[in-house]
Amino acid sequence: MSAPNKSYDPVEVEALKPEEIERMRDEALAAFAAADSLDALHEAKVAHTGPASPLALANREIGALPPHAKADAGKRVGMARGAVNKALAGRQAELEAERDARVLVEEDVDVTLPHDRVPAGARHPLTTLSERIEDVFVAMGYEVAEGPEVEAEWFNFDALNIGPDHPARGEADTFFVQGGGGGTESGVVLRTHTSPVQIRSLLGRELPVYVICPGRVYRTDELDATHTPVFHQVELLAVDEGLTMADLKGTLDHMVQSLFGEGMKTRLRPNFFPFTEPSAEMDMVCYVCRGESVGNPDRPCRTCSSEGWIELGGCGMVNPKVLAACGVDPEKYSGFAFGFGIERMLMFRHNVEDMRDMVEGDVRFTRPFGMEI
Ligand SMILES: [Zn+2]
Repeated sequence: MSAPNKSYDPVEVEALKPEEIERMRDEALAAFAAADSLDALHEAKVAHTGPASPLALANREIGALPPHAKADAGKRVGMARGAVNKALAGRQAELEAERDARVLVEEDVDVTLPHDRVPAGARHPLTTLSERIEDVFVAMGYEVAEGPEVEAEWFNFDALNIGPDHPARGEADTFFVQGGGGGTESGVVLRTHTSPVQIRSLLGRELPVYVICPGRVYRTDELDATHTPVFHQVELLAVDEGLTMADLKGTLDHMVQSLFGEGMKTRLRPNFFPFTEPSAEMDMVCYVCRGESVGNPDRPCRTCSSEGWIELGGCGMVNPKVLAACGVDPEKYSGFAFGFGIERMLMFRHNVEDMRDMVEGDVRFTRPFGMEI
């Protein structure tokens, strides 16, 4: 900046000559008009109105002029800067309007586009079948009981009269989480059946007890067409005064009629389970051929292999030792229990031939089952 000088003539200061001021203004206006984006306009704004712009520098020169020259120069520079700022604001508004219009087009939502490209899922038939079975028993007054899948060995084996030497306690069948394996210390296992929930129900509820226990169980099987290391069971337990095998048989008949239709029958074949005495295998009459394929080569039945009966699960009267282990007086109370695999029932109820289909989670498998109502 020049020092004040009385003989100073503004016309002689190059930056303040009228034609120079006009040139600066015109350059700024041209630059704003040429800016084709808000970014470019910002650059032009810095160059032509910022502190280092020619007009700002010229403005500073005014302070160095003698008083009589200041007014003229100030007016010229002020008018030029006013014109520049006005042009800047105008171009800014234009470019912002263009941007807003473009955003409206580019970010437009086409409500006519298909919206359902993600296929709807489906409930797994194991879940719907399990719930249907629960409904049958809830309608008879049973309660649905659940328990932990990681279970103490005592609940999974000892309380069910499965002693330390029982082969089921070996590592060949059971996933041990911690210790155990028939040793002296009680271990922790992934439950091999839903029976420990029966024990928990007896210990935690007032008598009489009527519970149905659906749930996931674990065995050390390889996954193949007929085995899976994780599967589902449903067990039921009734403990009351005066219960007999006749009550068990009537309950089973009602269940198969509810699930497979009127006229379905069951039969019991003697068997052995540690936790029931007496114990039985339960068969139901084949719901496809109703037994008519037996001895009738003209009408073979794939579902029951022309045997007329389908094995469903194990049952029996609760072993008095199990009742005693749960603090129930076996002299006063008796009970019955029944359990079966849901995968197996799904297989013969819907002709599913490969268990792997049930665990792969492919919606193409689950969708055709629809809803169980
Ligand atoms: Zn059949």
